Amino acid sequence: MSKLFPELDRELTRHTLRDGVRVDIADGPTSEIVSTLEKMGLIGTTQRRYVKCAYRSDPDYLERWDSGCEGIIEVDDLDKSYFCRECGQPIEQVTKKTFFGDVRVSLEPDGITQHIREAVQAVPHVARVDSLAYSAFSVQLTDGRTIKLVVLDYTEARYRFAGLYFAEPHLYVVASPINDPVRHVLEGQIYVALLSRKVSPFEGQFGTCTDDR
Ligand SMILES: [Zn+2]
Repeated sequence: MSKLFPELDRELTRHTLRDGVRVDIADGPTSEIVSTLEKMGLIGTTQRRYVKCAYRSDPDYLERWDSGCEGIIEVDDLDKSYFCRECGQPIEQVTKKTFFGDVRVSLEPDGITQHIREAVQAVPHVARVDSLAYSAFSVQLTDGRTIKLVVLDYTEARYRFAGLYFAEPHLYVVASPINDPVRHVLEGQIYVALLSRKVSPFEGQFGTCTDDR
């Protein structure tokens, strides 16, 4: 498995690369993706244990006020008393209920920036990559041309919007297409056009991300 480009399910990986998303760790493929992305330094995780307000296999199922309640109750201390925030009913014996677990994903800007730098550096057309600012790089190609590489999610505003004026060629990278503040940027077609028109040396290796919403 390539260290820079591990073979992971694309859809699941895209789902996992969202700040704040909760991922079921009992799910094998997702668990592997979380573990791989974490080892690569791209995400951090916080584990959570919870019970479901109304769960058919629980001994208190028939006593729940609303057997269709979808409330979940996070449990961090077995001695505390809990109630469901959805329907308001207390949970009498939390220890007798079925426990579930998931992890909350947080994106790691430092790791993502470093990864993108290394990934671009690995492209044969690239001679060198120099830092301009946080999450912004100057990429010198082997044919002498230079491209600005900008990670839209994290870099300074002046690098984020410079391409609007058709100055130097820019390679815009979006770490997480779902997260703000880049969503509105993706909705502006000019960014997609810039990316596909001005970054031809990268086409076929990084794609143009026109379908990444
Ligand atoms: Zn409830």
